[in-house]
Amino acid sequence: MTREHTFNFSAGPSMLPIEVLQTASAELVNYRDSGMSVMEMSHRSKIFQGIFDETKAKFKAALNVPDTHEILFLQGGASQQFSAVPLNLLGDKDTADYAVTGNFASIAAKEGARYCKVNVAASSAEKNYSYIPRQEELKLNPDAAYFYYCANNTIYGTEWNYVPETGSVPLVCDMSSNILTKPVDVSRYGVIFAGAQKNMAPAGLTVVVVDKALAGKERPYTPLMLSYELEIKKDSMYNTPPCYNIYLLGLVLNWLEEKGGVKAMETIKSAKAALLYDFLDQSSLFIGCAERDSRSDMNVTFRTGSEELDAEFVKGATALGLLNLKGHRVAGGMRASIYNAMPVEGVEKLVAFMKDFEVKHHA
Ligand SMILES: *Cc1c(COP(=O)(O)O)cnc(C)c1O
Repeated sequence: MTREHTFNFSAGPSMLPIEVLQTASAELVNYRDSGMSVMEMSHRSKIFQGIFDETKAKFKAALNVPDTHEILFLQGGASQQFSAVPLNLLGDKDTADYAVTGNFASIAAKEGARYCKVNVAASSAEKNYSYIPRQEELKLNPDAAYFYYCANNTIYGTEWNYVPETGSVPLVCDMSSNILTKPVDVSRYGVIFAGAQKNMAPAGLTVVVVDKALAGKERPYTPLMLSYELEIKKDSMYNTPPCYNIYLLGLVLNWLEEKGGVKAMETIKSAKAALLYDFLDQSSLFIGCAERDSRSDMNVTFRTGSEELDAEFVKGATALGLLNLKGHRVAGGMRASIYNAMPVEGVEKLVAFMKDFEVKHHA
């Protein structure tokens, strides 16, 4: 299979812009006449510090991060933040609110329950996580240390289309699968975190944006490596940061800027998702899994109703270079992940194949 003829719909790790891979490839062995690969540089060197500072500045500009918030480039994945959040934010409180709208929010709530009383402010588990609760449905506890939610449910294909209003309770958000796809009012959040491998860079980098006013009240037994206060003080370099991934994030942010930034991404991602959802809405074969007003623009989940047909669809798509359309094992069916790096042509090709498949398999 040639790279030019494939579109990778993987949920993560997922596609990176081809231009980014080409630049990385050209700079791989000898980074800008330094005589070294970025992989070989000391993280304390001036040249790497330059890459780090530039990437951080570009991220700050891309997401319009205010000076009240610090940007951290850490390891450990989004999952490590499931532990870091309660350990850093509980302070002397003993309860936190969680909206359980999917697999990762559910895991985060279970992890939170190891450290405090978890109030399930809302859950869509009873309908197989097919919807996002409305603001009026949230059972908020005013004594909660924070309100936790996952902005986009990667496995079930649902996405919050509003920012929860929680009064003075800080908002914590897992944005792993929709960060940098639309403008965000960062000032409304206590903590935003995201594993890089969905929409930013290869796996191994986790971006955390934290309101500096919330740092410094971690539980005394918090591992040093999870301390926001320490990482803020050390500018993400208490130990070796994921250097090469930070460099790649910088390249992705250059690409993003050239494409018009998060505002342009918002227009493009809405158009790409609409191509798929408009087709699903009139299809006589395919069924969308998520409720309409909760649909994700990032992960479009659908099925035929027959497991054999689903498998045949995935096989046929793969043969055409439309890769990784099989749904997550807990959800079944199909899932098309269409993050920033997925070109419109990829989605158009997918819809064309779905039309063909429908004609062939449905009288
Ligand atoms: C992929 C994903 C995770 C898990 O990320 P890791 O970096 O593997 O820990 C968590 N939350 C969401 C929303 C995800 O999509």
